[in-house]
Amino acid sequence: MSSEKTTAIVLRVVDFSETSSVVTLMTRDFGKITALAKGARRRKSPFEAALDVLAICRVVFLHKKSQSLDLLTEAKLERRFRAASVDLGRLYAAYYIVELLAALTDEDDPHVPLFDLAEDTIIRLDSGTGSPYATLLRFEMHALSILGHSPMLTHCVGCARPRNQPDQRVSFGLNEGGILCRSCRKGKTNVVGLSSDSWKTMVQFAQADDQEPTTIADSCQAETRSIMNQYLSHLLGYRPRLQKYITKIR
Ligand SMILES: [Zn+2]
Repeated sequence: MSSEKTTAIVLRVVDFSETSSVVTLMTRDFGKITALAKGARRRKSPFEAALDVLAICRVVFLHKKSQSLDLLTEAKLERRFRAASVDLGRLYAAYYIVELLAALTDEDDPHVPLFDLAEDTIIRLDSGTGSPYATLLRFEMHALSILGHSPMLTHCVGCARPRNQPDQRVSFGLNEGGILCRSCRKGKTNVVGLSSDSWKTMVQFAQADDQEPTTIADSCQAETRSIMNQYLSHLLGYRPRLQKYITKIR
């Protein structure tokens, strides 16, 4: 059993006993962990306000090698999510990110770039940078890329032919995880259509560079949201709980 120090995002807090909680944390160096926080429910908690969902904190924990829970020994708040009181859309978007992080990652499987992306995204949502809609799409595209689930957007996922009719509607195969040309589309199920503009938006957001857009045209918002919701639900095998709340945010 070793004592470890790292930065963490609080994903979930569940009451464990009258005085203790079990917390799920996305840590920068150790991936997702579940730890017992003894005394976290006491009025004078040793963790003070560090263990709220969406809080970013410095933690020290005892890492168990066996199946049992890790033991959280310290948590010091670095940043609290404050936008909750002013903008429900930003709060839902941030909660959705936490839900996706918990669903898309395994315990003890660290992805430093994913942690950094999530931290940056939560800070963007909290500080009001860009539209929450765009911030969410950026997170999803980059997170899927880090985890090896990027949708294939520029070439047909069936035959690798580049997309060559840029003004026509695009077919996206949910089972195949990418766009389908006319001949590969034949006979496929779970295919959804999207406009050429929505497709361009998704391509722009999938590119990891500093020039990426911070807004999405009104005409593309519903369609890009719908396709990402469907694609993520398909990947996970269920519909994330918070999807119904994020379809209307702007
Ligand atoms: Zn094809």
